[in-house]
Amino acid sequence: LFRPSHRIASIGVSEILKISGLAAEMKRQGRDIIVLGAGEPDFDTPDPIKDAAERAIRAGVTKYTALDGGQELKAAIRAKFKRDNELEFAQDEITVSAGAKQVLFNAMMATINPGDEVIIPTPFWVTYADIVAIVGGTPVLVPCSEANGFRLQGNVLERAITPRTRWLMLNSPSNPSGAAYSETDYRPILDVLIKHPHVWLMVDDIYEHIIYDDFRFVTPAAIEPALRSRILTVNGVSKAYAMTGWRIGYGAGPSPLIRAMAVVQSQSTSCPSSVSQAAAIEALNGPQDFIRDRCSSFQQRRDLVVGALNAIDGIRCRAPEGAFYTFASCAGLIGKVTPDGQTLRSDTDFAEYLLRAAGVAVIPGSAFGLAPYFRISYATSAVELEDACQRIARATAGLS
Ligand code: PLP
Repeated sequence: LFRPSHRIASIGVSEILKISGLAAEMKRQGRDIIVLGAGEPDFDTPDPIKDAAERAIRAGVTKYTALDGGQELKAAIRAKFKRDNELEFAQDEITVSAGAKQVLFNAMMATINPGDEVIIPTPFWVTYADIVAIVGGTPVLVPCSEANGFRLQGNVLERAITPRTRWLMLNSPSNPSGAAYSETDYRPILDVLIKHPHVWLMVDDIYEHIIYDDFRFVTPAAIEPALRSRILTVNGVSKAYAMTGWRIGYGAGPSPLIRAMAVVQSQSTSCPSSVSQAAAIEALNGPQDFIRDRCSSFQQRRDLVVGALNAIDGIRCRAPEGAFYTFASCAGLIGKVTPDGQTLRSDTDFAEYLLRAAGVAVIPGSAFGLAPYFRISYATSAVELEDACQRIARATAGLS
């Protein structure tokens, strides 16, 4: 009989997988389903990056590399931090893994003891809490209201800190809310952290380049040098360069932490893929201008979705500063009754109703720790998004 470990037993099947599974099943049965759940750009990896990978294969760059990334890629990452964030790191303050996700995993595995607490503002990318739980830590979920732009407030953080707090995890722009922190938004949080030297900060900047209007991206290590000795800045090539399948993410932080993370990696994946590292070097060192074009395409789609959702009675959607998600409130629809007599009691009920009645798959906010909301990923064509929004409007109009 199969018995999962205690570590795994505490990890539930996510709502995301449930709704995606249902959508996939309905598609198989021939239903016309629009899935708005993608966590990756619909664009392809740019050709110069693919070419670099091909050249690397031909040149025999096909062997194990240094444990946590080759010197050339680390140099490209340092140059990126200098160019984009005005941050200088030494080579031994950089680590490279199979995606930002593995960077996070290594960091938690390397630092968390049973009972250690990690503060995670909600709504949040569920992976954060699951990784903390897998390594035996305790995720401490702190709700962040829509009224505060889904951003953590300094006084709320202050209340959540205990002697067992090891890390605070922040993500800007955020999956799922699209909310991003300006320097002014970060300031009170960093002030609280200065007062609590036992708390480290992990910032996930993976959506750094997907920002809109005149929002200016900033990262805490650049704002507050006094905290640099306990900040891990996480980033990667997945989202900005449409390279989710290549699996390259990186982290920058104090060298003792980086060394401990390499120990974890040495006994799991040994090193990141050599070919993908060659591709990532080209991504980081090559021309960056296509990112801006892709961003303006994302911005048009954001405007389309936000506009269409706000035109629907019972739905309210804040315009996100970045990433490719909207996180809309469906509070105005809770308690309404579907044409076949079912009362919508939660955002999960609403998401299921949209899937069955309109053939549109969205993810309920409860999957990200904040209800009643739903997340739409607009990393799909404008035509499909327009169709989806019309279907949502029709299905919503059918409620009484
Ligand atoms: N961080 C956030 C907030 C994400 O939404 C995702 C992917 O969905 C990742 C990290 C994963 O990045 P990677 O592909 O580098 O593992």
